[in-house]
Amino acid sequence: MSQSKLILVPTPIGNLDDITLRAIKVLQQCDLVLAEDTRVSRFLLKHLGIEKKLQSFHSNNEHHVLERTVNLIRENNMVALVSDAGTPAISDPGFLLVRACIAANIDIETLPGPTAFVPALVNSGFPCDRFCFEGFLPHKKGRVTRITEWLTEERTIILYESPHRLIKTLQQVNDILGPEREVCVCRELTKMYEEVKRGKISDLLLHYTNTPPKGEIVMLLRGCS
Ligand code: SAM
Repeated sequence: MSQSKLILVPTPIGNLDDITLRAIKVLQQCDLVLAEDTRVSRFLLKHLGIEKKLQSFHSNNEHHVLERTVNLIRENNMVALVSDAGTPAISDPGFLLVRACIAANIDIETLPGPTAFVPALVNSGFPCDRFCFEGFLPHKKGRVTRITEWLTEERTIILYESPHRLIKTLQQVNDILGPEREVCVCRELTKMYEEVKRGKISDLLLHYTNTPPKGEIVMLLRGCS
């Protein structure tokens, strides 16, 4: 039977219990695991009791590894792609490999599983029927342009943010969208110190200025009404 396939395997975003049975099965059965950081994935595989060949696949070598991976899959190998946490290709490497496999007529499967923005969206209490995922804002140029677009964005807006930039982002959003727009900050989802804060931008700006945030963050804004 043909094993030729790329399988994108989501991994936990904090709580190791969130790995799915199917993800475990694929990690056991595949011929090779491509990993964003092999040290992080080796830890997960060890926790699952799986010994598997790992190869690094990250933003700096992604282009080089594409052709090699496509050839390997063509030679009847099942290759699993994982990132450090969550679903590959969601603000992580993966998109280029998916595209290369489509071009090479290779089967691709993406397992459903952990990703940070879905629980954050549902937990926010903001409308989930229409939303836009903005990933990370640029660090320097282009931030104001992106935030200005949200003046007229009716859908719930989802951002990934680092704790070091959260206050800067809240301040810019406050200045451009106004202090009254509702925001939700989800920190350390699925982990011991999980925290969800909801309120007006001005309130959360004050809160995090007084209590600098730590950990991983998803920030959501209610769309304009
Ligand atoms: N591929 C991942 C996914 O499917 O969500 C996202 C990877 S991206 C490099 C990492 C960012 O995701 C973090 O900076 C944070 O914004 C968000 N994130 C990941 N884990 C999180 C968690 N446990 N709680 C809150 N946000 C998280």
